[in-house]
Amino acid sequence: MNEVLGAVVLVAFVNAVVFGPLAAWLAVERGRDPAPWFVVGIVAGPFAAIAVGLGPRKVGHTFKACIECQEPIASGATTCPFCGSDLIAAEAAEWRTRASKTTPTDG
Ligand SMILES: [Zn+2]
Repeated sequence: MNEVLGAVVLVAFVNAVVFGPLAAWLAVERGRDPAPWFVVGIVAGPFAAIAVGLGPRKVGHTFKACIECQEPIASGATTCPFCGSDLIAAEAAEWRTRASKTTPTDG
């Protein structure tokens, strides 16, 4: 019985040290409130981290869609963390394409 109790205490300790902060960090990464996710991380452990990790991102003004894969990424990013494309080069190419497609006479 003591072994079971010890295992429960160990799991709770690991959750509090590892998955609480991890869930909170993942929440911040996704533009969400970290406080409730910290608590959920302690209670639910890895499941909270998975839940917030798989959850939809709250896309705000600090994010933009990747020009290649359309994943939301930080607006200041120079390389896409999802597809690894060079955003500076990709956006430059995109603007060149737009410029060549747009007719100079407007209306
Ligand atoms: Zn991408």
